[in-house]
Amino acid sequence: MKNTADKTVTKKRSPKEFVVTGESVVSGWGYGKAYFIGRAVQQQGASAVTISQEEVGTEIIRFNEIRDRAKKDYQKLIHDLSSDETTIDVSILNIYELILDDPAFIGQVVEAISVKLYDLETSIRAVSNDIIKQFESAGTPYFKERAGDMVEVCEKLVSYLHSDGSRTKTFAEPVVLVILRTFTPTDILAYDRSKISAVITVSGGKTSHAAILARSYNIPVISDLRNITDRIKPGYEILVDADRGKVYVQPSAQTVSKYKLQTHGEEAYKKLKAKWNRPVYTRDGVRIEVLANLSLPEDAREAVENGADGIGLVRTEYLLSNRKDMPTEAAHISYYKEILDQCRGKHCVIRLMDIGGDKIPQFFDMPQEFNPFMGWRAIRIFLERKEIFETQVAAILKAGKGHDYSIMIPMVTTLQEWLEAKVFIKRIAEKLSMPMPRCGVLFEVPLAILEMQMFMKEIDFASIGTNDLIQYLSAADRNNSKVNYLYNPVEPAFLRIIKNAIKIANDNGKPLSICGEMAGHPLHTILLVGLGLRRFSVMPRNVPLIKEIIANINSAEVAESVSHINVIESMDETLQWLKNLNTRLLGDVMKKMPFMG
Ligand code: PEP
Ligand code: MG
Repeated sequence: MKNTADKTVTKKRSPKEFVVTGESVVSGWGYGKAYFIGRAVQQQGASAVTISQEEVGTEIIRFNEIRDRAKKDYQKLIHDLSSDETTIDVSILNIYELILDDPAFIGQVVEAISVKLYDLETSIRAVSNDIIKQFESAGTPYFKERAGDMVEVCEKLVSYLHSDGSRTKTFAEPVVLVILRTFTPTDILAYDRSKISAVITVSGGKTSHAAILARSYNIPVISDLRNITDRIKPGYEILVDADRGKVYVQPSAQTVSKYKLQTHGEEAYKKLKAKWNRPVYTRDGVRIEVLANLSLPEDAREAVENGADGIGLVRTEYLLSNRKDMPTEAAHISYYKEILDQCRGKHCVIRLMDIGGDKIPQFFDMPQEFNPFMGWRAIRIFLERKEIFETQVAAILKAGKGHDYSIMIPMVTTLQEWLEAKVFIKRIAEKLSMPMPRCGVLFEVPLAILEMQMFMKEIDFASIGTNDLIQYLSAADRNNSKVNYLYNPVEPAFLRIIKNAIKIANDNGKPLSICGEMAGHPLHTILLVGLGLRRFSVMPRNVPLIKEIIANINSAEVAESVSHINVIESMDETLQWLKNLNTRLLGDVMKKMPFMG
């Protein structure tokens, strides 16, 4: 068992409260100590952890394993860069290898583990910090660069500790993750979520996979912060107000107590949750299903508790997070069973693994890509590496026996791809003497949605993945807050594409949902019902709110109102019109609503 070490840190004079601003990515507020991820060495303090004498051997073995792993990764990088015919100077990477083999570095880490009884992460950080301080005090540009190299190596080693699935990093007290690069899903999954009170980051868009995870776990996020390391140090107290895009550094007691009085609509949320454990109908009696999106099996319980009418999207690629290798069929089966058992007869849409883009498992041999979101991803990997997906499909079929489920395939671009995937699934079903499951397409690539009619006789159902669809249609990266102004579902041209797709599916009698973040935002509910959408799939916590809005509208009336999108010309105009429409039809209902957006 590990204990939290003595938390005494030598107190330097800390600055008084000051505020830095950024872009709000996930709303809410949170308060905790700054914990850095990325290229800055964490100081000891609240996160220092000690071990027992019996654990010393295992920690030293682990140290050697991760040193080897880092050396191999750097060698691979040197090899890839050298064969790329680029002019990049790879000599710097050789320096990293020298540090990893440096007897002084190795000796000091081993000593910190065996004498001070620090765990491996604390030991690496403590030794790296000492070395960095020595380099920095030398003052010359050469030694400053060596300090930077040490930061790289230290963070590289530590990153393996949280990505091999063997341990989730825990904290003794709440932390604010300070991410010095683009925010990624692993930043949420490798740490104890109950202790992450907020995230601040250099870069990350509202519908990035990391932001989607943070939102569903109620973790506020602010992005686009500049010069973080100049202004915030590890261990500083941080209060994040993501509703206003403000970060209070070393906040005063007064500021903290002011925020502690805020509840972020918790009471209203609880009331709605208690009310909506039942189906919802519009005022004129049209049934609308509100399903939930899941990333981890434990989210299924939350979906059920929030009154979801089923599961509209299981992001199964998260089964690959924090692992050393591909999951076995048994691991797949238990993942699906855990979810399906919670569904208790309600329908569940299991999406095949969407690997690629910003979701690349540590162990997966992924080629270096300049445009990962436009590259080898999802069905494109599936059709080339069928053995991986054979395990997944067989496991879904076995776990799904006796349950109401279907399979969805992400990133389909052409009908040919889809037909090939379907034949493959059919073959597996035949091999197992099981019936062919219902299969559908996640429409998130422009070519596919623009040719949706062609797919109609070949699919059992459809879903629209607006998160990717918007980025591909607007050529605006969903991870990049700099181009957020172009990334917006209320762009009129985008709405007309959605309208057309809903009509095609409805005319052909194919169930269609929207499972992108657009569907979970209350501002869009009236609009989507008006466009004919009858199935929403949203994060669990927003299910009651979306149902409440639906119960307050008349489908015929909203259909009439939204025909206005045919003549709208700009995003600003749509936004204003939509806000007015919401106020006109819902009055005060929206004002009292809790919303994690
Ligand atoms: C989407 O793209 O809208 C979607 C639901 O898939 P993901 O967010 O996982 O890419
Ligand atoms: Mg997608």
